[in-house]
Amino acid sequence: MSSAITRRGFVGAGAGVAAVAALPAASASAAKRTSSTRYDVVIVGAGLAGLQAARYLTKKGKKVKVLEARGRVGGRTLNHPIGGGNVIEIGGQWIGPTQDKLAAVAKDVGVKTFKTHWTGQAVYQRGGKRTLFDVTSIIPPDPDAADAAGIVGKLETMGAKIDRERPWTSENALEYDSQTLETFKQHNTSTPGGRFLTDLAVNAVWAAEPRDISLLHTLFYISSAGNETKKGSFLRLTSTTDGAQESRFVGGSQKVSIEMAKRLGSRILLNAPVRRIEQHGSECRVVSDKGTFRAKQVIVAVPPAVSAFIDYDPILPFDRAQLLQRFPQGNAIKCQAVFKEPFWRKEGLSGYVNSDEGPVKLMYDNSPPDGSRGVLLGFIEGQEARRAGRMSAAARKAAVLANFAKTIGPQAAKPQMYVEMNWSTEEWTRGCYGGFLPPGVWTDFGVAVRRPHGRIHWAGAEHATIWNGYMDGALRSGEDAAKNALAKL
Ligand code: FAD
Repeated sequence: MSSAITRRGFVGAGAGVAAVAALPAASASAAKRTSSTRYDVVIVGAGLAGLQAARYLTKKGKKVKVLEARGRVGGRTLNHPIGGGNVIEIGGQWIGPTQDKLAAVAKDVGVKTFKTHWTGQAVYQRGGKRTLFDVTSIIPPDPDAADAAGIVGKLETMGAKIDRERPWTSENALEYDSQTLETFKQHNTSTPGGRFLTDLAVNAVWAAEPRDISLLHTLFYISSAGNETKKGSFLRLTSTTDGAQESRFVGGSQKVSIEMAKRLGSRILLNAPVRRIEQHGSECRVVSDKGTFRAKQVIVAVPPAVSAFIDYDPILPFDRAQLLQRFPQGNAIKCQAVFKEPFWRKEGLSGYVNSDEGPVKLMYDNSPPDGSRGVLLGFIEGQEARRAGRMSAAARKAAVLANFAKTIGPQAAKPQMYVEMNWSTEEWTRGCYGGFLPPGVWTDFGVAVRRPHGRIHWAGAEHATIWNGYMDGALRSGEDAAKNALAKL
């Protein structure tokens, strides 16, 4: 391991890593220092994808360096302390059935799971009418629910036929990729309630609007929400029981990344944003604010939209560059209010809410496993997040708490603590939950999604064929990129 660079810049990736204060800003002189070590693989990004790539290669005896822009690991997973040793998750949080890679890695690093609180009455609010229903029922109390079930059934059937590796080669791919999910919705629903419920589900899965997303991408994503032996389903994406929201991590989801990072130790360098990647014959030079690192292969494990801010020499092939111009991140603001106790449970409420009144249209009980504090979680998604992102923080908080009070009760407007995160404002993420593809992109640019650029390999949740966009997919994509890099060493 080299040397001056690592001694000067490294901040240990131990338990307290999330709290480590940022180091001094980037300096041009630092970037000029070149590592004497020639790494087998330099990995850009210490999110789950980058960490898993590093883990895999390290186990194979390879010399790796992970360069992370932030002063912490975990990327889109982030814990926030709420007192009493408890944390809330600011980013990704849930794990569900068939997310086998995430389950295996978490088990390996000793992070346990617990079931999402899922008992009591849910609140359904549409057109000014507030109705309660058993949260375990998958059918909301809406006379138009059958209309929504109809379109979901069609999407399930069509999604089952999509090739997850090469969606653009699937039957009817061009027809599906020539329309938005909104067009499909307009043709396959006929009631206001059916359309509202479809929008709500789409907002919840992609943090985007049906008008933003290619129908082919929708079907690919549905298909990807399974494991090697079982294709996914729309219901699995949206459900809690037997779905992607089924369980959470004890100690918060970022604990998985932190534990992975502990085992990688000084191979991770924080506060080291990568600005430029050069390929010179058999050598790559990865230029960061903490120096230039030499490597045989490079894995870029950052969201596609964020990877476009790196300079590449030689420049990216036209189709990869144009793909990056067409790979937007969704918009979500995650808002949480912390109370002395989950008071709504005593009133028979589950904390789960569906509402047509923004900015928060979807809520969950996000209390710690022992219920020692009460936490209400509200999501602002898609166009609501675009609007709310332009509000002042105070106005947004007031609007969120007004939603909480209207659906859960007046006490919900008076939390002990309020925490929100707009991921679209984060320099190293620029939106969430992940990237999605608008019409025309899969068919014309799909070949460039995972194809390496010389010695540069691509990883990150958006590159996964299984559980694309999820923590599980991030891990799988990191491992896949590591295998490809290894094969070329
Ligand atoms: P990231 O986590 O984005 O990691 C990329 C890393 O690269 C970051 O650490 C970043 O700082 C770093 N980086 C970026 N640019 C550079 C650069 N130039 N140089 C060096 N480093 C750089 N998934 C689920 O499975 N379940 C959920 O419940 C869930 N809910 C979500 C809720 C929210 C609010 C969010 C934000 C995400 C959610 N997700 C969920 C998605 C999930 O968190 C992500 O898919 C996953 O964490 C992505 O991991 P990644 O490694 O691919 O990317």
